[in-house]
Amino acid sequence: MLSFSEFNYHFVDVSTSLGADIVALDNGSIIASINPKSRKKTKVIMSGVHGDERGGPLAILKYLQNKKLNTDNYQTIILPLINEDGWGKKDRHHTGIDLNRNFNSSGPSHVRQIIDYLSPKEIDLFVDLHEDIDEDGFVYKLSTDSHNFADQVASHIGCPTVVEDNHDQWGDSTEKFIRSLGCFKAVTTEAPGKVSPEEKINWNYKAFEFVAQL
Ligand SMILES: [Zn+2]
Repeated sequence: MLSFSEFNYHFVDVSTSLGADIVALDNGSIIASINPKSRKKTKVIMSGVHGDERGGPLAILKYLQNKKLNTDNYQTIILPLINEDGWGKKDRHHTGIDLNRNFNSSGPSHVRQIIDYLSPKEIDLFVDLHEDIDEDGFVYKLSTDSHNFADQVASHIGCPTVVEDNHDQWGDSTEKFIRSLGCFKAVTTEAPGKVSPEEKINWNYKAFEFVAQL
């Protein structure tokens, strides 16, 4: 099992080979920005918000090590593993805090750094990779969205969408923060919980692949 530092070593290695600008946050988490100057619009992929959900970070690493990222249309910002505390402990929380309910400027310093980093960007697309222990895999879709981005992601993965009228019960989620910046093509994916670690990686791989190929 990859430790947090081992994961970051490999992620920085492959991202650097793609020409990424690398930022290391206070907690050791990495932001990789690929094609940072030549494209105005940005696609952002986040993962590892919950430390016990390992499929997303590992899928991102696997994809970048094996398959091409499309850099023609977007600047790509990848935050593959932002919860160093939960990763080590195999815990959803970060020092007792659910980062997907407290993603605001009162959060841990690395969350504030992410907010400061992303706020000036012109973010066109956002995907946050999660897992749901009780479900078979789905993509959240907001009923108020006037686009079909969530359907496109779900179709590529081969899973249903779950429609919600709002995300109020999530409090200050990552998706709520991104939407506050004016990015409305924002989705949260939930990989199946009761499958093998390899199947979780494969599911997240498809989700990442969809964004990577745009
Ligand atoms: Zn989660």
